[in-house]
Amino acid sequence: MNIYEIITNNLIERVEKMIENGETSNWLCPWQKLGLPKSYVSEKTYSGINLWLLESGHYLTWNQYLDIKKHLPEVNLKKGSKSHMCVYFNYKEVEDEESGEIKNIPYLKYYRLFKADDFENLPSKEKIIEYEHKGMEDVQKIIDTYSEKTKVKIRIEKSDEAYYSPLLDEIVLVSEKQYKNFDSFVSTAFHEIIHSTGHSSRLNRIKSTFTENEEYSKEELVAQLGSSLLCFLFGYTNTDTTNNDVNYIRGWLKHLKDNTRELISAGSQAQKAVDYILTITDLKSLVNQE
Ligand SMILES: [Zn+2]
Repeated sequence: MNIYEIITNNLIERVEKMIENGETSNWLCPWQKLGLPKSYVSEKTYSGINLWLLESGHYLTWNQYLDIKKHLPEVNLKKGSKSHMCVYFNYKEVEDEESGEIKNIPYLKYYRLFKADDFENLPSKEKIIEYEHKGMEDVQKIIDTYSEKTKVKIRIEKSDEAYYSPLLDEIVLVSEKQYKNFDSFVSTAFHEIIHSTGHSSRLNRIKSTFTENEEYSKEELVAQLGSSLLCFLFGYTNTDTTNNDVNYIRGWLKHLKDNTRELISAGSQAQKAVDYILTITDLKSLVNQE
């Protein structure tokens, strides 16, 4: 039995025990959420379609920026920052030409907003605590090497969502500063990296779209088992994250009919994915020490 199998079997056993005991606890989001998009000046939350147009965080109009700059001349828009469209719905009074009646006519006004994060020296209004993590340098090295060798684009930014997009072959990670527990950040980063190994140009696990819920659930199992495996190998473990891993796996397993068989098959695919990552990043020596 190799090290991959030992760890995978251990995880599978724990998930199975959980099912046996009828334990059901939910996966807990390990990062601090930024919440809905808000106005930097009024702190009012944007509503309606704007929730689709804007990401979480604070936003300013160009005029609001100019106003702030009067008191804080050191505030500057960072080079290359893009504006975001926002829609404002209102009524205006219009006088009917014939009858002279006043009518309320709805209209949409479009305007442009800038993310507060895109300004230098603008005091942050975010309520989240930013955590500094010493281990980030090492993890960043693994992430950069993987990205360089595979050409997967990896962005780490203040956000509310971590995901891998097979279409864009791109990973977006929630900033490590939003995590109190650094191991949880690493676990999420590995989870998304495992997803990216499924791309058609790599291990070809992910079809362009998952037509069935079953296929998607299986891919989630592979990602989480693979992430746990990588965390163990690199020494990122604590009870917090491992329990969360098990809860996550348990959650997806509910969607699959033949639990045990699917888990074992996901486990072997996860091992292949981990092997792929360690090989491509020249870290295979980690498991070849016997
Ligand atoms: Zn996932």
